[in-house]
Amino acid sequence: MRVILIGPPGVGKGTQAKLLVKKYHIPQISTGDMLRANIQQNTALGQHANTFMEAGKLVPDDVILEMIRVRFLEADCKDGYVLDGFPRTIPQAEGLELMLKKIDQKLDAVLVITADNAEIIRRLSSRRSCQECGAVYNLLFSPPHKTDICDHCGGKLYQRDDDKPATIQNRLDVYESQTAPLVEFYYKMDLVRKVNGMGTIDEVSEGIRKALE
Ligand SMILES: [Zn+2]
Repeated sequence: MRVILIGPPGVGKGTQAKLLVKKYHIPQISTGDMLRANIQQNTALGQHANTFMEAGKLVPDDVILEMIRVRFLEADCKDGYVLDGFPRTIPQAEGLELMLKKIDQKLDAVLVITADNAEIIRRLSSRRSCQECGAVYNLLFSPPHKTDICDHCGGKLYQRDDDKPATIQNRLDVYESQTAPLVEFYYKMDLVRKVNGMGTIDEVSEGIRKALE
């Protein structure tokens, strides 16, 4: 099962990726982690990537694609993978397609988790963090026992800038403008499977299972 997972902030994409990993016994490949691993292990590709990063530049797509290619050919990817965080642009998607052809692999699906923006904003803006110990609460799902007070340390709870409605709206806008062309690209290849991301973890997971049948 070779899948790409795409979804907006706040729908539990990470959780769903982990469930896919468990169900299909395939690794989750996140390009950020892969890049860090290459640099840490000081591979030739890692060293190459590092020259760009040290110069304060983005690592070029072809370097990332080569890392992904090497990773896809490792033994644990023989039954597939969940690719997460890549591609983000059309040139990256085109590069990925070209590379997959060269190694004679084909994607099975591009899972697109859909969401209701108002609901995402409601959920994420209900988060509160402890000023002292960093514990995170959600007023809707896991409220503290006493209003605005941390259960663990008695510290005061506050709303991080990232959790403010205007910031969330902005992240959702960025996500949408980035994702729409990609979805169109994969839609033409008949790979897009849309899944409603607004249910419980189990409901979304069930939606993904059906979409992959
Ligand atoms: Zn605390």
